[in-house]
Amino acid sequence: MITFDAVSKQYPNGTTAVDNLSLEFPDGGITVLVGTSGCGKSTTLRMINRMVEPTAGTVSLDGKDISTVNAPELRRGIGYVIQHAGLFPHRTVLDNVATVPLLLGWSKKKARARAGELMELVGLPANYAKRYPYQLSGGQQQRVGVARALGADPPVLLMDEPFSAVDPVVRADLQAEFLRLQKDLHKTIVFVTHDIDEAIKLGDKVAVFRTGGKLVQYDTPENLLSAPADEFVRGFIGHDRGIRRLSFVDSAALPLSDALVLPDSAPVSKARAADGPWVLVTDAARKPLGWAAVSALPQDGTLADATLTPLGHTFSLATDSARAALDAALLSPSGLAVGVDEEGAVVGVTDAAAITGGSSGGDSQ
Ligand code: ADP
Repeated sequence: MITFDAVSKQYPNGTTAVDNLSLEFPDGGITVLVGTSGCGKSTTLRMINRMVEPTAGTVSLDGKDISTVNAPELRRGIGYVIQHAGLFPHRTVLDNVATVPLLLGWSKKKARARAGELMELVGLPANYAKRYPYQLSGGQQQRVGVARALGADPPVLLMDEPFSAVDPVVRADLQAEFLRLQKDLHKTIVFVTHDIDEAIKLGDKVAVFRTGGKLVQYDTPENLLSAPADEFVRGFIGHDRGIRRLSFVDSAALPLSDALVLPDSAPVSKARAADGPWVLVTDAARKPLGWAAVSALPQDGTLADATLTPLGHTFSLATDSARAALDAALLSPSGLAVGVDEEGAVVGVTDAAAITGGSSGGDSQ
């Protein structure tokens, strides 16, 4: 566990970068430090590996004051990833990744074998090993940076805006892979970003800072969204926090109706009698086939004779959040989201108003 106890950092020019910070970073979790530029996030991060020394207070790692630990030794247990990856431009990808094992005195052969494993771990094809950093895209360079930081299998990983310099699509990929990796690795990660969406997506805990190095709120993403501590946090999170909060609600909790769900063996008259402009048509196993517009139904026969409009996305009650259900509703031709069980069979349908349940209605609370 990393602990900050009444830590301050004043730079020699008088700037207070961090002001009386007390904070515990849980083991095996991702703690995100978020705030606008210059609010002391990087300074906080760099005090963990002693790149910056506090001017007051104590930083400890597993109960031990780190100012009493030899800095190079401390850093061996702490990986560090920065924006633009900070790769050595004249070393190949493989040699970049092998840097830390080599520093630890491993043989060249063993270090390179380890580097090969790490490349695979972060999703870099083996044939990139001999390339140089400039021959890679920004996203690929970040993967090399992460692989390099994992070189000595450090229990702690510090990441300073690691995904900020890449485009949004690549960033989303890197974030997803990062979460996948962490599921297996359970590192204690401290992650700095200025992007509140990234903080909410990645953090087990999120620390919101404001200018002057003041911690304003330290909480789970869910609590940040549901109960921002003050106007500053509320403003920082933005006005759509009600909708974002749906990411933390299981779709299984949503009210679903099956009044508009009919098998394709049902007579069209049954669809006409249904209370809505659309009905969802399923097969005999309740697998969804598509939407039938009631106004365009054939005169008679069964729903198997109706022209169906494709479903769009369904949402899974077992695995999806209410946010996924909302997206499904908004993208659905009928305005209704289709909830399915683990086998893909329809449980029921719901609309955006029912999903948001009034909770996304602005920012008045
Ligand atoms: P953030 O990571 O949130 O952008 P930083 O921790 O980098 O913020 O910086 C916090 C404040 O400390 C800023 O006002 C910055 O200008 C100042 N600062 C950072 N490093 C130094 C330094 N080496 N000397 C003087 N001031 C610094």
